[in-house]
Amino acid sequence: MTHNTDLNIALFERAKRVIPGGVNSPVRAFKAVGGTPRFVKRAQGAYFWDANDQRYIDYIGSWGPMILGHGHPAVVQAVQQAVLEGFSYGAPTEREVELAEEILRLVPSMDMVRLVSSGTEAAMSAIRLARGATGRSKLIKFEGCYHGHADALLVKAGSGLATFGNPTSAGVPPEVVQHTLVLEYNNIEQLEEAFALHGPELACLMIEPIAGNMNFVRASVPFMKRCRELCTQHGALLVFDEVMTGFRVALGSAQSVYARHLPGFEPDITVMGKVIGGGMPLAAFGARRAVMEHLAPLGSVYQAGTLSGNPVATACGLATLREIAKPGFYEELSRKAQLLMGGLQTAADKAGVPFCTDSEGGMFGFFLFKELPQNYATVMTTDNKRFNILFHGLLDRGVYIAPALYEAGFMSAAHTDADIAETVAAAAEVFKMI
Ligand SMILES: *Cc1c(COP(=O)(O)O)cnc(C)c1O
Repeated sequence: MTHNTDLNIALFERAKRVIPGGVNSPVRAFKAVGGTPRFVKRAQGAYFWDANDQRYIDYIGSWGPMILGHGHPAVVQAVQQAVLEGFSYGAPTEREVELAEEILRLVPSMDMVRLVSSGTEAAMSAIRLARGATGRSKLIKFEGCYHGHADALLVKAGSGLATFGNPTSAGVPPEVVQHTLVLEYNNIEQLEEAFALHGPELACLMIEPIAGNMNFVRASVPFMKRCRELCTQHGALLVFDEVMTGFRVALGSAQSVYARHLPGFEPDITVMGKVIGGGMPLAAFGARRAVMEHLAPLGSVYQAGTLSGNPVATACGLATLREIAKPGFYEELSRKAQLLMGGLQTAADKAGVPFCTDSEGGMFGFFLFKELPQNYATVMTTDNKRFNILFHGLLDRGVYIAPALYEAGFMSAAHTDADIAETVAAAAEVFKMI
């Protein structure tokens, strides 16, 4: 079954000599699952091909951005046109304005938006803005939520309410995270306690509304309701990190999903990335006018970027947003995500493997559990060995899912029902081995 991967192995060896771990972002190294990362040669539609010309059905899509699939003609054309007009000017362009207008039209909780180059940068800037706007220092984040690798956000340790977080990474001084309070996701009691203890000092609460960095875990509606109420009551800003969920789970992003259950619901600051760049380095953060006017050059919160609003990236993002805004786009994407999850569930049931799934729009997750987990600690009880058999079994059969059990999966518009059937058939074989 296992196909030849010798050229990937050779590239990995070469890469390890010149790039730490051979990769430019850690999860690509396959450290959690073992084996050799696939070096991508090219991609088209729902597929990519590795160094050995082996084809894979791609359920990662660059970790979310490739919602249209790879090489969508309208996007390719927009990027080609933009490239001919110049790569970067360090001066404003009309296209940035167009992209900002389009984002604000689709996500009405924001009056203004600032474009940056990565989700990390957007989340880091949103925190600075929240602190600048409120004149407060402390922030709440949740265990298992990833907001990029800015120092103040690199904490996850559930060290309890009395103590503030410990850095997750070496190189982050404890003083830098002393204002970061880490709570358990979906735990209303802890949330209330934290606000009771620290309410007047809290600048913001930052949350992934549907967490995609501990596989796929939704914030429950009652939990989200309490987050909103407590922030309002204590004058803290509710920051939605929609870098992954933005334009991925719905055209109005995850906040529109919560607004279905909580009429009038909106966050104070929204952080976006991934899909809005369509595969180019582009991210954004936005809020109501009164908050955004704290940013330089209007206000005293500094934020800047040489490549921010890059003309090629904005062309790619704009073309992507125009495609996903077409009628019926999310209905079809959701249908396919559900088709895949239903197929995997049936295959797992037949093989007697404990299994459960969830999805929203084009984002999905599955667990080797009977019931969906509600927090990071539960996700982490997954049997690594069984997950790795599943991962490598699928990889050997030309299906590429995230090489770690704490990552979500992504459907694209380019996946066909036949691709999904092929995936389910591969999974049915692998489930028998688990
Ligand atoms: C990917 C991600 C980030 C970081 O974005 P980068 O572009 O990788 O810096 C931040 N928050 C969430 C929720 C993400 O999924």
